[in-house]
Amino acid sequence: MITLKSPRELEIMARGGAILAATLERLAAEVRPGVTTKDLDAAAEAFIRSHRGAKPAFKGLYGFPAAVCTSINEEIVHGIPSPKRVLKEGDLVKLDVGVELDGYFTDSAITVPVGEVDVASQRLMAVTKEALAAGIEAARVGNHIGDIGAAIEAVVKAAGYTTADDLVGHYVGSKPHGDPQVPNHGTSKRGPKLLPGLTIAIEPMVNIGKSATRTLRDKWTIVTADGSRSAHFEHTVAITEAGPRILTLQPARV
Ligand code: MG
Ligand code: MG
Repeated sequence: MITLKSPRELEIMARGGAILAATLERLAAEVRPGVTTKDLDAAAEAFIRSHRGAKPAFKGLYGFPAAVCTSINEEIVHGIPSPKRVLKEGDLVKLDVGVELDGYFTDSAITVPVGEVDVASQRLMAVTKEALAAGIEAARVGNHIGDIGAAIEAVVKAAGYTTADDLVGHYVGSKPHGDPQVPNHGTSKRGPKLLPGLTIAIEPMVNIGKSATRTLRDKWTIVTADGSRSAHFEHTVAITEAGPRILTLQPARV
């Protein structure tokens, strides 16, 4: 069943989303060669918990052991932070975080270059951001879920890249994941209708190489099967009569 959020509920999600956006901004500032993914995870958890009522939503979710998913280079999503995993110059690190505030969930991810990255990685990040923006732009009353996927797919295909197989966006709000799924490919006017109050995570995961994926032996980390690099950007977005509203943004600085 698809649930819709009231204006009051959207305000709670926007407050949680602002904490999440601030968390990602702090983590991005910490990213440099020599930092471990466990360092980033510890910083994120402490920062989230420093806000009254806020919790790292991923910690313990389906048994995931950390507050942040840290995925490097060919790792697409769900990488587990480790004190042994040291960031190196030229890496691309994806940071995916969930926040629960007062019973409501938000979900957002960024891709951050470690020092200087190669031109191919810079282009991959730019295209993935552009794909997210196109998906958000299509998240309008009167459109369908398929319009979002079609918009993402058009940007990714035009760049000569692929979206990772079987990895999709999703409903987020009263729980961290639910229906409808929000695929990164699709057909305009197909799938569930976008109604005011629907809250979804839109999250293109874009590969330089082929779309095929595999899961590592840790049973969490999903990588590109061909070893090519992947990027990921994600926002939690509300469908409103006034257009798409990104809930995972920091309000104007206070
Ligand atoms: Mg996420
Ligand atoms: Mg998500």
